[in-house]
Amino acid sequence: MTRATKIVATLGPASSDPEVLERLLRAGVDVVRLNFSHGKAQDHIDRANMVRAIAARVGKPVALMADLQGPKIRVGKFAEGKVMLEPGAAFVLDAQRSEPGDVHCVGLDYKELPRDVRPGDTLLLNDGLIKLTVEAVRGEEVHTRVVLGGELSNNKGINKAGGGLTAPALTAKDMEDIKTAVAFQCEYLAVSFPKNATDMEMARQLANVAGEATRHKPAMIAKIERSEAIPLLESILRASDGIMVARGDLAVEVGNAAVPALQKRMIRMAREMDKVVITATQMMESMILAPVPTRAEVSDVANAVLDGTDAVMLSAETAAGKYPIETVEQMAQIALEAERAEDVSIETDFTNKKFGRIDQSIAMGALFTAHHLGCKAIIALTESGSTALWMSRHNIKVPIYGLTTQQNSERRMTLYRNVRPLLMPKLTDRDAALAMAESLLVERGVLRPGDTYAITCGEPMGYPGGTNMLKVCQVR
Ligand code: PGA
Ligand code: MN
Repeated sequence: MTRATKIVATLGPASSDPEVLERLLRAGVDVVRLNFSHGKAQDHIDRANMVRAIAARVGKPVALMADLQGPKIRVGKFAEGKVMLEPGAAFVLDAQRSEPGDVHCVGLDYKELPRDVRPGDTLLLNDGLIKLTVEAVRGEEVHTRVVLGGELSNNKGINKAGGGLTAPALTAKDMEDIKTAVAFQCEYLAVSFPKNATDMEMARQLANVAGEATRHKPAMIAKIERSEAIPLLESILRASDGIMVARGDLAVEVGNAAVPALQKRMIRMAREMDKVVITATQMMESMILAPVPTRAEVSDVANAVLDGTDAVMLSAETAAGKYPIETVEQMAQIALEAERAEDVSIETDFTNKKFGRIDQSIAMGALFTAHHLGCKAIIALTESGSTALWMSRHNIKVPIYGLTTQQNSERRMTLYRNVRPLLMPKLTDRDAALAMAESLLVERGVLRPGDTYAITCGEPMGYPGGTNMLKVCQVR
């Protein structure tokens, strides 16, 4: 049995050695994430080239996801590098302060803070470990009272409970990074802290302009990590190709306890709207230091799979952890076991689904047919990958093979749940293409004589959006 759920792994110091990277890909990584919050442009270019080269050597398609840093909503630096904040103490965040901070006051990287907060607001620092209540705003100074104390060190992040920080999603650095990422043809571009659909549209436009010469258009992923994004989820999804359930920042803004239900809702909505969804952050966190995950982490990964996520993501576990390969191996194992236990209920989501396009109708017809006939595989001959995407939005046990002549589409499909992308040569004759598709899967041992499969294609061949036929075949 092959795994349907995909694994996204972040590269970093623990995984930038070619040998480690090769083992990561072999262990099951489908998409490599390059985190633009760390490193210089050249580091990412080097890593992207290395991923391409090693993926070619391993012989499997791997997509690159460039993850933009987004706005830095952070405190400044401290004279001693850090301070200890005691509960009940007064603490001032001063946008004008240029000298290093102390236990009474610190400067701000984010100069707009005094205009974004009001007395009574709660500010969360360092991933929510420190909690401050705003008592007054005097000019550029935000006067607060420490509610939850602890150590606060240089440049820690600030979130406001309930959202409402006005920082724009795309910074000047992000705009430069988009050019870098599009130059190495990233398949996915993840935007941090989008507030609304316009942020995503703007990012897409910048990416498309950057890719104009090469006609490269990355798929856009909205990281849902702001309170404001939640009520606008539908329009953000419409403006994007997928979302990331970015549980780190999201949990700080909406409160930890709200995240599990939001995760389920986001996954359901994404699938209903034919978008992809990645579940991220702290999935195997303890494996940064330990060779085995906690029971809670095992359940978390399994539950994300049962929620229907396309992919589960690793951050520091593979970027900076001690056991990057073991983490991927165990994550893959957990996903596989969870999929085995899963219910298949195609009819219920089918009755609610509306589709008015010929290609989409054929895709749905193939899915229904293959499910009920118990086909061994569904083969989608697809230029853009859309047919495979539509099919993969429903939960069935029949694996979907996305066969394409476009390398970018092949790589993009690596993220789609239950889709195995394969590259095939360009053929203009329909029957030759159908025969080629069958022999590719027979060669791989997926299909054997006597097996039935469903195959979709478009006639004439080779046009995106042209799928207009479905055939059910038996291997001779
Ligand atoms: P980050 O995003 O790791 O880039 O912050 C993910 C998250 O916030 O969960
Ligand atoms: Mn984040």
